[in-house]
Parts: sequence; structure tokens; C-alpha cells
Amino acid sequence: MTLLEVRHLSRAFGGVQAVDAIDFDLEAGEMLALIGPNGAGKSTTFNMIGGQLRPSSGVVRLAGRDITGLPPRAIARLGVGRTFQVAATFAGLAVLENVQMALLAHDRKIFRAWRPARLARRDAALALLEQVGMQEQAERPCSELAYGDVKRVELAMALAGAPRLLLMDEPTAGMAPAERHALMALTQRLARERGMAVLFTEHSMDVVFAHADRLLVLARGKLIAQGTPAQVRDDAQVQAVYFGS
Ligand code: ADP
Ligand code: MG
Repeated sequence: MTLLEVRHLSRAFGGVQAVDAIDFDLEAGEMLALIGPNGAGKSTTFNMIGGQLRPSSGVVRLAGRDITGLPPRAIARLGVGRTFQVAATFAGLAVLENVQMALLAHDRKIFRAWRPARLARRDAALALLEQVGMQEQAERPCSELAYGDVKRVELAMALAGAPRLLLMDEPTAGMAPAERHALMALTQRLARERGMAVLFTEHSMDVVFAHADRLLVLARGKLIAQGTPAQVRDDAQVQAVYFGS
């Protein structure tokens, strides 16, 4: 099933065509990597899908429904989750409390049944932490965690909304190679288990080739190639523009 359809999506900033009429599909449960050099338009693309930025033109459809230009909250409610490059946890709060906050943000019934909802959220938060392998550290403040563990907590927080599509813009920025692989392997496993699609950017080609089902290659706002890792690796235009060979 096609979950996300992006059609002729464009965004200009003044005279700069940051994203230039891109077209792609994302299937349910698929791991799709969006790669390209700095300034290629990756974050702009994420922000247009997530609603943080209005497209200049083009259409974004989620499960057949036009979501172009909807506010971020409406898009989140329709099942699109996000992680951000800069850590989005509350450092002073415990790991568990951070995940409870994320669940709270997605819970629209809390004002009717505050206490039962609170209790339920503790179990739900622990279940999410178990899925990312962080249940043992539930009571520790986020400020004490290793960077890679903060990223796991952020993943649990993104899962709190039970997204059908998870947008991850440079999720492994600042991480060592082994940690990068571990986080994306975990993401891939959770995506498979939940039937959740993931669109992510990643600079390490090793990580991309290991964990993406398919790749999109952006250069100066245009999609210059898409396909399986093997197809993209052999594409002469990609080698010239992206790998500089
Ligand atoms: P990437 O994430 O691939 O590094 P971006 O989407 O951040 O690329 O940027 C694409 C282009 O759009 C760049 O030339 C960048 O300078 C420009 N750009 C991005 N955001 C803005 C903005 N808010 N205002 C002006 N120019 C922007
Ligand atoms: Mg970016």
C-alpha cells in the first residue's frame, strides 16, 4: 500500500530553489533513505511533509488524503511522527517521565479521566522503553544518559504517537559508527514489527546501505536517482554528484 505520495513538491527561499518538483512514493512499512550533500534540500523536504514549512507548490498525500500545508499538529494526528536533529528530551526529567509526557501529548482524553490515564501511561511508557531497550534506565534523569541512549529515548517518544510514518532528519548526527548502526537497526526492527514506514537522512553510506530498503538521492533540490541500494550505488550520475568520483 502506498502510504505517502509526494508530487511535484517545491519550495523556494528568495531566489534559491531549495526543493525542485520532486516526486516519490513511500510504501507502508518501508525504510526509505533521503540522501544528498549539505544544502541539497533534505530538511526542507522533511519540513514540508511534517507541516513545519509550506510548499511553494506540489502535493503531499498520506494514505490518499491531501495533507499539503496542514499544520504540524494535524499532520501528527494523522499518523506522522518526527524526531529532530537536536535532542528534544527534557534533561531534568527521568527517562520514564519524558516518555509519559510524549504519551500525554498524544492523549486527547486526559482531562476527562486524569488519574486513570496517568496510571495507564506509566505502563504504556514502560512498554515503549522496553521496545527500545531502555527500561532499566527508566528512573534516571535524561541528563545522565549517554548520547546514544538519549536517541533511544527520543525514538520511544516518537513511537508514543503510534505513527504510521516516522520522519527522522539526521537521527544519528554526532554518533560513532557502531552506535549509528545500532540505532538504525533498532529503528528498522521496530518499523518491521509495527508496519511503520520510516523516511530518514543519514550521511554514512554504510548505514544507509545496511538499513534502507530504498534510497532517494537529492542534489540541488532535484531528485537525481532513486532505487535499491545496489541500483543507486551503480548509478553514474549519483557517483559523479554525490560521491564525487
Ligand atoms: P539539507 O537538509 O539537505 O542540508 P536544506 O533543506 O536545509 O538542505 O537546505 C536546502 C537549501 O535551502 C539550502 O541552500 C539552504 O541554504 C536553503 N534554506 C533552507 N532553509 C532556509 C530558510 N529558512 N531560509 C532561507 N534559505 C533556506
Ligand atoms: Mg538538513
